[in-house]
Amino acid sequence: MGLLRPDFLLFICLFLLFVGVIAFNRITQTYKVYLAFHFLMMLWPLGQFAVSITGYPEYQSLFIRLSFVAVGLIGPGWLFFVLFLTQRSSWLKPKRVAAILAPSLVSVVCVIWNPNHLFLKPYDGQYATRDYGPLFWLLTFIQLGYLFVTLINMFHGLRNDSSVNRRKQLATTLIGMFVLTGFAVLDLLVNVLLRGSLPVIPGLMSLGILLSDCCFILAIYRYGMFDILSMAQQNMIEHMSMGIVVIDEDGKVLEANRAAASFVQVGKGDSFEMEKFLAQLPGHEEVSEFLYRYRHYPQERMQTEITLQDSRHVSIQISPVLDDTKSVLGRIITFHDVSELRKLVDEMNRKNEALHERNLELIAIQEELYRVNQKLEQMAITDGLTGCYNRRFLMQQLEHEVLLNLRYRIPFSIFLFDIDFFKQINDQYGHLIGDEVLRQTVDTVKANLRRTDILARYGGEEFTVYLPHTTQEQAELLADRIMRSVADNRVETGRDKIGITISMGIVTEVDFEQQVEDVKEYLRGLFSRVDSALYRAKHEGRNRVVIASANGAH
Ligand code: GH3
Ligand code: MG
Ligand code: MG
Repeated sequence: MGLLRPDFLLFICLFLLFVGVIAFNRITQTYKVYLAFHFLMMLWPLGQFAVSITGYPEYQSLFIRLSFVAVGLIGPGWLFFVLFLTQRSSWLKPKRVAAILAPSLVSVVCVIWNPNHLFLKPYDGQYATRDYGPLFWLLTFIQLGYLFVTLINMFHGLRNDSSVNRRKQLATTLIGMFVLTGFAVLDLLVNVLLRGSLPVIPGLMSLGILLSDCCFILAIYRYGMFDILSMAQQNMIEHMSMGIVVIDEDGKVLEANRAAASFVQVGKGDSFEMEKFLAQLPGHEEVSEFLYRYRHYPQERMQTEITLQDSRHVSIQISPVLDDTKSVLGRIITFHDVSELRKLVDEMNRKNEALHERNLELIAIQEELYRVNQKLEQMAITDGLTGCYNRRFLMQQLEHEVLLNLRYRIPFSIFLFDIDFFKQINDQYGHLIGDEVLRQTVDTVKANLRRTDILARYGGEEFTVYLPHTTQEQAELLADRIMRSVADNRVETGRDKIGITISMGIVTEVDFEQQVEDVKEYLRGLFSRVDSALYRAKHEGRNRVVIASANGAH
């Protein structure tokens, strides 16, 4: 029934917890320290149990010393564990580790050696009850020393660590340490100092070890003591190229990562004043609105861009840290060097501007081209000297128009006129005056026409007019008017004023029954008729109008 003794049961509990922790978690450096520590703690109840089940004093001595070896090592184990927990393991250089371990190793040597029973001696030849010597008290004081140093480290960690989670972890671990210390002191009081007057209570120390371990396990599972993710996040923040500063509601810096140093000179515990920071920068007036919002709207996210003294462009973003009730606990300020980006944007803007200017030039060129084209088109259909249409244009128009006129039985007329004795004018006054006569004659004729009539130069000093919607009577009336106008117009030659006359043939289409197969052929026929009429006008004495005879007649 010895197996049901409390020490052994507690040993089993501790062992199961030990296996559980290994089975369900990935091992990190902190874990390893924890496991070694846990294993040490298990040795105490195991040793106590072993002492109680054997009657041989040599074995009892061996087991009891094994228990005290474990106790001797718990102190530095604690200290290492807390150093890992508060992320100061880098402080542990080999010499420091040796210095930490030295007192503990001294007490371990004392336990194993037990010179002249100065550590402990059997009572009635048995170790189940025993007397403790001065070396036992040395071990006790050394352990208290470790406890003291560990507690200082722990409080330091509690004060400096900004993470609420890690504070909870540390606080839980601290409770575990107090519990263990409490039980150890109780064990010392009841089972050592007051052994004579009080009954022996077995398993006090073991119970303390179990309870404190429960606290550690609570810290592991509830608050993620070995939370790889939060460690990774912390690591990532530390190594980010973006500067990150976390401040509390009073502007005190809680965290500043490595990159932040290249933007602001603040460390943990300093106070960060945005006003002062911006005031030392060139051209800070531009961010006055940002400052106003920074001061008056702490719950808002905001962003601005500044130029540092070393002309780096930096984007500053402020994000509030809010609690469940949306009240501001602090702010995260990030600094992002956007110089490269700004350079690219500036370059792009410059290129854009150049492109815009080029575009404007292109538009101007296009407009010029359009004007030139218009002019070319105009030139292609007009006669350069007189400004009236040319023969090709008129023919193109007629090819289209006459067919419509014939189909819809719309009467139309054509004039063909030639200036009388023009050669003489040329010969007498020169070609320039001849040209002037041509221009003035055209202007005079045009003044008598409708907008829909087309006046074109037929060749030399011969002109033709297409008159849509015009019967023969109307054409004759108009021709008379034109003859008079031309005759009334007198051209200044420099020497005298000369009168001009013209001879004109008129043709009017009245045969709407004919079938036109080839419009060009039809037009040739039409012009042949009007040409004959003009010829007759010349022949009959000039300065007159002759109506072309009906189709087919001469
Ligand atoms: P008619 O009464 O029989 O028509 O006699 P005409 O002298 O007018 O004879 P014709 O019609 O044969 O004369 C045409 C002249 O017009 C010949 C040419 O020198 C002249 N001419 C043709 N085109 C131009 C021109 O653009 N400018 C000038 N100044 N003269 C031209
Ligand atoms: Mg002539
Ligand atoms: Mg002629």
